[in-house]
Parts: sequence; structure tokens; C-alpha cells
Amino acid sequence: MKPFTKILTAVDFSENSDYAFEYALTLANQFNAELTIIHVINEPVDLRGFYVPHISFEQLEKEIEESAVKMMATFCSSKLGAFTNYKTAIVTGIPCDEIIAAADKNDASLIVLGTHGRTGLDRILFGSTAERVVRSAGCPVLTVRLPTP
Ligand code: AMP
Repeated sequence: MKPFTKILTAVDFSENSDYAFEYALTLANQFNAELTIIHVINEPVDLRGFYVPHISFEQLEKEIEESAVKMMATFCSSKLGAFTNYKTAIVTGIPCDEIIAAADKNDASLIVLGTHGRTGLDRILFGSTAERVVRSAGCPVLTVRLPTP
């Protein structure tokens, strides 16, 4: 078995991904692993100048990226506590593809993600990120489900 030295966790800032993140952080602490926290900005192809013609695509993209960077910073400062062995990545694309590419690039030994994410349009368009990552990842994947109330 490859030791869990590099853990990659995918966050979409949903309740389920927050919950999965707790597992990733606990495992990173226990295995003394480096933690990579990735957020993927869904490529907003359908928005290009159509719904919001007064905003250029470049401007929209810039604002989305800036907002994602802020969300990641807030996330890290509220969730990581004393843990410092981490890095963050914000990329644009299709979440499952980017998560797998980042895991390969970082030579991740484990991927941690939620079984569910934000509901709505993204899921209808792209299907289940968790399922696609489980099917295609080159390393073990831990999927974490929110406990039922
Ligand atoms: P989903 O398949 O969309 O229901 O999401 C399942 C899990 O995949 C979430 O709990 C996250 O851990 C991860 N995920 C989904 N979308 C993204 C995203 N845009 N960026 C990073 N992780 C994501």
C-alpha cells in the first residue's frame, strides 16, 4: 500500500464538502500528510455574453475568480486551525476532470470528497463528480456522505 503522504480534497463550499473536508484534515493530521485543497470553477460557457450581455466574458471570469479566491481564503482561515502543511488550487474547468488532473499532478495518494455537492444546474449538466472521480482516479478515493438527520 502506498502511504497517505499527499491527500487531495475537493471543496465546492457545500455542506457535504465541508463535512468531507473534516475527514481530509483529520487524515492529513494523522498521516502527517500534505493536504491540497482544490476548488474548480465550473467553466461558465452558457453565460458568455448571453444572460448578462453588459458584462464582458473576461470581466465575468475575473470577478468569479476573485470571488473564488476570497471564498477559499475564508474557508482556509476558518477550517484549518493550526494545520499548516497545505496548499490551495483554484482552477477552471469540469470538476471531475480537474480533480483527477490535480491528483495526478500532485502525485496524490488519496482523494477525499463529498458524495454530494451543491444541487442544481451543475449536477444536471455534469452528473456526479464523486462518481466520476471514483471511476477514473489513479489513487484511492474516500467519499463522505453527510449523516442523515
Ligand atoms: P457533486 O458530484 O456535484 O454532487 O459533488 C460531490 C463532491 O465533489 C462535493 O462534495 C465536492 O467534494 C466535490 N466537488 C463538486 N464540485 C466541485 C467543484 N466545483 N470544485 C471542487 N470540488 C467539487
